[in-house]
Amino acid sequence: MYDLIIIGSGPAGLSAAVYGKRAGFDVVVIEMNPMSGGQVLNTYEVDNYLGMPGMNGFDMGMEFKKHAEGMGVEFVNARVSRIEKLENQYFNIITGDDSTDTSVTNDADSPSDKFKTKSIIVATGATHALLNVPGEEQHTGRGVSYCATCDGAFFRNKTVAVVGGGDVAAEDAVFLSRMCEKVYLIHRRDSLRAAKILQDRLFVCDNVEIIWDSVVEEIEGNEQVESIRLHNVKEDKHETKAVDGVFIAIGLNPNSGFVRDIVECDEGGYIIAGEDCVTKTPGVFAAGDVRTKGLRQIVTAVADGANAVASVERYLLDKPQK
Ligand code: FAD
Ligand code: NAP
Repeated sequence: MYDLIIIGSGPAGLSAAVYGKRAGFDVVVIEMNPMSGGQVLNTYEVDNYLGMPGMNGFDMGMEFKKHAEGMGVEFVNARVSRIEKLENQYFNIITGDDSTDTSVTNDADSPSDKFKTKSIIVATGATHALLNVPGEEQHTGRGVSYCATCDGAFFRNKTVAVVGGGDVAAEDAVFLSRMCEKVYLIHRRDSLRAAKILQDRLFVCDNVEIIWDSVVEEIEGNEQVESIRLHNVKEDKHETKAVDGVFIAIGLNPNSGFVRDIVECDEGGYIIAGEDCVTKTPGVFAAGDVRTKGLRQIVTAVADGANAVASVERYLLDKPQK
């Protein structure tokens, strides 16, 4: 029986692990990826985390993990597929094949296992959304990518399209402009959602062309991506652009499918919890990008980890010991 099980080892989960260990809890972190760090691992450069200007995201993930490991936190590499509520508000966390969650896929699934705990912090973050257009699935890994920092180098001196208008799309377009001959940024509206500082960096890139008010209708090609068909929704015009790659950056879906039967989520699937990370289910707390919040950042995820543990402490103190 653990005091606390943390699911996910992105910034929120790792911060919770450090705080949990310092609070004297018997803590285990269950992470489905062989590497900890979460979305940060796919970030080329993080320039807004206090005290670490310009840090490479991968290195930051490694530093976070090292800190938690140094505190003696126990890690298990497995995907959590289900949580069972037991008597006395204890829980069984089920990992591996025994899945009810079809939103999370993991090739390296482990055999099913069970972990009993008094409290849980769900810190499973979010995963990129799909465009859901013809040719997307067929060309994934063959020109369609969801990670510019991972795959950008394959498109050196080539022409690519980035789809989206948020922070990730703007950052991806700037990043790709440094190595690609030409970058189209395709956005469905006439203004970007990205932070002003990122827009300023984007607008000075000579080889980035922004295609406004347009959606991707189809990604075309045979073995590899060759072109995209676009629809200008304002002028109701269709056009085809020759591209070698398409980077899709249209936001995130919360990784909450496996807990939706035990905690309340909003219509987007985010676990409903405030800054104290308390959910409506006693004993279950939600930290980081997976919970309802205004700003999804590393610093807010790290803060959630600390707040969630403070709430766990209050909860375990008040819980009748049977
Ligand atoms: P995540 O980082 O998503 O981590 C969740 C972890 O849970 C993952 O390791 C995942 O594998 C694991 N997990 C999921 N489901 C399960 C399961 N069922 N069982 C076990 N484990 C599971 N923020 C900034 O502040 N600055 C930036 O510059 C910045 N750049 C970004 C660039 C990109 C490309 C992206 C995608 C995001 C960026 N962000 C940035 C946002 C920031 O990365 C996130 O807000 C932050 O990582 C959220 O942390 P988290 O711990 O809540 O979730
Ligand atoms: P996001 O902010 O949700 O933006 C998604 C973008 O994709 C929006 O512009 C949206 O258009 C567009 N979009 C959504 N669905 C679409 C569809 N089906 N077809 C076409 N376009 C679609 O997501 P994000 O950019 O991935 O960022 C995720 C989180 O990480 C955010 O909280 C962000 O702040 C954070 N982040 C921060 C930094 C940083 O601080 N440096 C860097 C990267 C990420 P509309 O605008 O019309 O809605």
